Amino acid sequence: MSDTPPATARAFTGACHCGAVQFECSLDLSGAIVCNCSICSAKGLIMAFAPAEAFRVTAGEDHLNEYRFNRHVIGHMFCTTCGVEPFAKGEMPDGTKIAAVNVRSLKGVDLAALTPAPYDGRSA
Ligand SMILES: [Zn+2]
Repeated sequence: MSDTPPATARAFTGACHCGAVQFECSLDLSGAIVCNCSICSAKGLIMAFAPAEAFRVTAGEDHLNEYRFNRHVIGHMFCTTCGVEPFAKGEMPDGTKIAAVNVRSLKGVDLAALTPAPYDGRSA
């Protein structure tokens, strides 16, 4: 890892529903968002973001397929067995690669204790 994650970031592991796809990452859940764009609404995603260096697929790379739509800037990665999207690949405006992690696919997260911020992706 080239960058040290911020002090508020925690290490997590996560998986798709069937468990074929496994990943680990370092995230700050206080930055979690619920976006109102068409795909986040349809999937019920809660997203949190990690630098690409702080995210790693540890199993099931061959079970992943990618869905892109609209401007095709975000690669929505889903498990070809169970259909769950554990994460998406994207870029910041400056070109920095990031992982958008589906907080619902993380292990050991109390979703009821989270207060994700609304994000107006529909108008973005
Ligand atoms: Zn799966």
